[in-house]
Amino acid sequence: MKVAIIGGGLTGLSTAYYMGKSFPNWEIHVLESSNRWGGKVQTKRHDGYVVEVGPDSYLARKTAMTDLVKELGLGDTLVRNATGESYIYHQGQMKPIPGGSIIGIPTEFLPFAMSSLLSWSGKLRAGLDFFKKPYPGNEDMSIDDFFRYHLGDELVHLLIEPLLSGIYGGDLKRLSLLGTFPEFRQLEQKHGNLVKGMMAMQSMRKQSGAATEGQFAQLTGGLESLVDALVEQMPEKVSLHTSSEVLGVSYTDGCYVVETQQGRDSYDRLVVTTPPKSYEAFFKDDANFDDLRHMEQSSCAIVIMSLPKSAFTKPLQGTGFVITRSTETPLTACTYISSKWPQTTPQDKVVLRVFLGKPTDTTVDTHSEKELCELALSEIRKILGFTGNPEWMEVVRLQKSMPQYEVGHKERVATIMKHVAEQYPGLALIGTPFTGVGMPDGIKQAYELVEAWKE
Ligand SMILES: Cc1cc2nc3c(=O)[nH]c(=O)nc-3n(C[C@H](O)[C@H](O)[C@H](O)COP(=O)(O)OP(=O)(O)OC[C@H]3O[C@@H](n4cnc5c(N)ncnc54)[C@H](O)[C@@H]3O)c2cc1C
Repeated sequence: MKVAIIGGGLTGLSTAYYMGKSFPNWEIHVLESSNRWGGKVQTKRHDGYVVEVGPDSYLARKTAMTDLVKELGLGDTLVRNATGESYIYHQGQMKPIPGGSIIGIPTEFLPFAMSSLLSWSGKLRAGLDFFKKPYPGNEDMSIDDFFRYHLGDELVHLLIEPLLSGIYGGDLKRLSLLGTFPEFRQLEQKHGNLVKGMMAMQSMRKQSGAATEGQFAQLTGGLESLVDALVEQMPEKVSLHTSSEVLGVSYTDGCYVVETQQGRDSYDRLVVTTPPKSYEAFFKDDANFDDLRHMEQSSCAIVIMSLPKSAFTKPLQGTGFVITRSTETPLTACTYISSKWPQTTPQDKVVLRVFLGKPTDTTVDTHSEKELCELALSEIRKILGFTGNPEWMEVVRLQKSMPQYEVGHKERVATIMKHVAEQYPGLALIGTPFTGVGMPDGIKQAYELVEAWKE
């Protein structure tokens, strides 16, 4: 059996790893367009810093990634984030997120009632959810509609929107609840309303001890150490090819013909792990892939900067903050890396990771990297009020990089998958366009694909 895997990010590499182990006689080629492995994962490792330039960590409860990390012998390097207060920056004021809330949804009465972030009418409206029924109907709905129905406009604007839109980099009015956070719908249906569901979940987390632990996991060697381990421990029959952009794919006479600049090659099976846009060049004659080709993708930029601690007149509180959409700034959030992941930076430095890219704001697409650095610096300086200039800055501009799971996403994916199952034997489409945009989601899909191919 000869198999091609398109894309050498975490999803493509983990597919190759699991496949090579399960089928030691298969000839497996991984084709990656760039000259490095890891895709969006990129760690800056020098002078005592281990700082993520791309994704920063992963949700530890998504165990597929932890399983892979341990299998590759890196289990000892796993660390959880420092838990600290997080803040909301709204129109010039920094306010703590009420204690006991999970992504802004209240689960404890007192800290929520005492919070200075929301008005009394906003608190009362959110509290009324206690008497609400599940969101009506069985159809998919936008995240915005679902949370406004339960918790009211003010809480959505001040908490849910800045906290959730960061994950997908998108507009909550367009994003599908069932495609992104189906667990909220399940909790609401099981417990009658959202607040009761979240309280039940929080109580379970407290009983299991999970509530006191950081929710995110990292590796002391950086996320790129996982990429390195995958490459180093790749089974023998897997061959890895960088600088091999796939320019076209077609299915002819029971084989997949894959075209790169080096020429054409035929494969019995094919796994595609690349972002939606790449389908513009794949299966061009088949309109059934159009939904993938037209999938919206949002842009964002991350500017990382290191400053001496002495640049700050008082220590930073918590581990970072998110910014409401109505606050006049192109920034969306800032993480204090040196507080959230103290092991990643020298002790006398403060490292900030500043995010730009509000939905409908074109700053990221229209500004050069240098301009983005200047903008991020001047805006974050206004908010945090430090003196002096960063010792170094690093920018990554991720244009059209985050697939937007818009309302109806799950049905569209199911339709594509049905078509593939019927018309393309031996073809698998996995990765960020389908069932989750995070790193563990890609690894889980890779693992499950190989398990399914064993049957
Ligand atoms: C700003 C941002 C922050 C994020 N933060 C987090 C986070 O904190 N935690 C988390 O879990 N996830 C995060 N993510 C998501 C995470 O980056 C992805 O889940 C993960 O990197 C996806 O890996 P992948 O291999 O599926 O795709 P990618 O990393 O995109 O890899 C795809 C690979 O395919 C290659 N490729 C593309 N086209 C072709 C072609 N035609 N031929 C050959 N190769 C091709 C690309 O060069 C790339 O190497 C973040 C994403 C963004 C954009």
